[in-house]
Amino acid sequence: MSKYDDIRQQAYDANMQLPELGLVLFTFGNASAADRNLHVFAIKPSGIPYKDLSPEKMVIVDFDGKIVEGNLRPSSDTLTHAVLYKNFETIGGIAHTHSTYATGWAQSLRDIPIYGTTHADHTTCDIPCAAPMNDEMIEGDYEYQTGFQIINALRQRNLSYEDVEMVLVGNHAPFTWGKNAAKAVYNSAVLEEIAKMAFITETVKADALRLKDALIKKHYERKHGKNSYYGQ
Ligand SMILES: [Zn+2]
Repeated sequence: MSKYDDIRQQAYDANMQLPELGLVLFTFGNASAADRNLHVFAIKPSGIPYKDLSPEKMVIVDFDGKIVEGNLRPSSDTLTHAVLYKNFETIGGIAHTHSTYATGWAQSLRDIPIYGTTHADHTTCDIPCAAPMNDEMIEGDYEYQTGFQIINALRQRNLSYEDVEMVLVGNHAPFTWGKNAAKAVYNSAVLEEIAKMAFITETVKADALRLKDALIKKHYERKHGKNSYYGQ
């Protein structure tokens, strides 16, 4: 028994969901689960196929990216997770995939416009695409800077990480987060669906119109906010 068993299990379950939901191939992608009281998170080890993972193989890392417990090397994206946990103070889970449609938008360097109510149920703005890093950032501590790339994308648009739990990293792929690892994975799946729907919308009609403000507000508030009435 270890005090980290709970987050190891959460991280394992979240990682295993990624291939099950069709969001990753081979060893692409990673998910992590944080313990805010212990100031650590559990993350997938680097380069191990999903079928060979187990809760014990999850690596425990602190919010500066230093290994606390575990024999394997953590995911190469660990520093990005660490930066996000340190700066987004209420999140408990992060997921990163190269899911096809969301990555297509990231590679196009475009925010995903809010075209429909599926999108509005989850967030009221376009999904931000963070601008590519400058060359010094790329040559420096790349994964660490990716965290700031995400933080800056929200800051430039005056958005809060609590209102928008998904960002496309320009030329790369999406990162999502949430109150726990399961919610972060859920957001990765939702983002992929929103990206696919937006792609189809523009294919059907290149000059499709954004959702009206009244519908954005209605759909978001049905699920969120103090007068929400969606679900049980
Ligand atoms: Zn990646």
